[in-house]
Amino acid sequence: MVLSIKAKRDEVGLAGGELLIDGAWRPAADGGTWSHLHPATAEEVGTFAVGTASDVDAAVRAARAAFDEGAWPRTRAKERIRILRRIADAIRENAVELQTLVALDNGVPVSFGETYAMSVECVADIFDHHAGWVDKLAGETLPGYQGGDHLVLTLREPVGVVAAIIPWNGPLLLAAQKIAPALAAGCTVVLKPSEYATFSALRLARLIEEAGLPAGVLNVVTGPGDTTGDALINHPLVDKISFTGSRGVGRKVLAAAANGVKRTSLELGGKSPSLVFPDADVYAAAATTMGTVTMGLSGQACVAHTRALVHRDVYDEFLAIAEAMAALVTYGDPFHPETTASPLINERQLNRVLGYIESGRAEGARLVTGGGRPDGELATGNFVQPTLFADVANDATIAREEIFGPVLAVVPFTEEDEALRLANDTTYGLAATVWTADVKRAFRLTRSLRAGTVGVNGYQLEPHVAFGGYGQSGLNREGGRTSIEAYTELKTVLIPTTEEMM
Ligand code: NAD
Repeated sequence: MVLSIKAKRDEVGLAGGELLIDGAWRPAADGGTWSHLHPATAEEVGTFAVGTASDVDAAVRAARAAFDEGAWPRTRAKERIRILRRIADAIRENAVELQTLVALDNGVPVSFGETYAMSVECVADIFDHHAGWVDKLAGETLPGYQGGDHLVLTLREPVGVVAAIIPWNGPLLLAAQKIAPALAAGCTVVLKPSEYATFSALRLARLIEEAGLPAGVLNVVTGPGDTTGDALINHPLVDKISFTGSRGVGRKVLAAAANGVKRTSLELGGKSPSLVFPDADVYAAAATTMGTVTMGLSGQACVAHTRALVHRDVYDEFLAIAEAMAALVTYGDPFHPETTASPLINERQLNRVLGYIESGRAEGARLVTGGGRPDGELATGNFVQPTLFADVANDATIAREEIFGPVLAVVPFTEEDEALRLANDTTYGLAATVWTADVKRAFRLTRSLRAGTVGVNGYQLEPHVAFGGYGQSGLNREGGRTSIEAYTELKTVLIPTTEEMM
């Protein structure tokens, strides 16, 4: 395992990370760097620049000038489309390298990149998709209210300078979900990737830059959240903050946005339920639910369905299948094709997840499988065994808080109303999936569940549809038309057409 990570790092020729400011790559103003340790082995993968407040200021001013005086917001649709499509092509041409960099960043196995939503192809598709919106960003024409001759128009205009802040678990996908619609709308961007997944985002930025964007349209500052990120969200020349990450940091973003009255989109965490009824395909329900919590990102996904609400008639069957599924999870070298799941991103997260497992035991849940760390070679990495808790009370800590690790909490129920009440009894509201053969029940629950995305007998994310959360899972939506509109201001134009209306 150790050999493979170092060998891959040398194979892609990982250079020291630099900041992208106003079209130039450069080190941090004070020369500060940060060493990235691989989560599977704790080996140093590379170093990147720690952007200071003055670097952030330079990046925001470059984006400001590119927006206020530069060509990009005024570039013809045809040319903007061409550049976005060129970016998509460059991403596809460099897919293997990009996937390798993600695995070097966050340890997510390359095999997981074959899942469409986590693939480089999906990242490219997001740019293609938003290229298609550039010439369709339409306003409305309305009749006058007080007089028929009064012409009323609305125009969609780019919102301005966007601060895009992303987490580590989908560094390419989440960067694309912000950069592509922002560029399509005519905005300029300062991207701050996570300090735990920097190299893939930097490579993506190089590809975007090489596709022909004018200098200053995309800038990248790397570094920790509480310094580099904090300077960015509080910068007075930022018009909009688009943030994906934890609820705790989301609150800080919201406070900074309130202070500067900035437009804000927040994509935060979740505690999403699977509701499993006796008429469901229990195998599919259990395998999929346990899979979302253990395979690929090891439960470090916002939409992991970490609460299973299971009818008592199929409860034992569900647990047996979920336990068998846990036994299939394979940890190890992220570049080995048979590795199916990743380590936790860092030691802090490892200890946090182990603490949640301890709280599950202490609060009386029944541990069915897992609950500790694997031994042997894997003991050096941040791995946690796939963990299944049964007989969990819906008010237990492990059923309420986002664990961000491979832990499934199973809660029994008897009546549909009870299942709905349990499902909605959460401060989050990102996703939910109903498992049933009864189409009426499926529609009933789809309407009543308080979640931004509801699956019926399956859950598959698509890049062109609105995605986001109810409750404390976020504000606004990302994906498709909702995305590009979130990077626009709506301007109303009033045109009296007769003398008496002026
Ligand atoms: P995080 O909130 O710790 O960090 C996210 C980003 O915010 C990072 O770039 C970080 O450096 C930055 N940051 C941290 N403190 C900051 C501050 N004070 N000011 C400005 N920026 C700051 O989250 P994470 O651990 O990287 O990611 C996990 C979280 O992301 C989970 O809660 C998960 O549910 C959420 N997530 C949500 C979605 C979604 O679409 N809803 C998608 C992926 C991940």
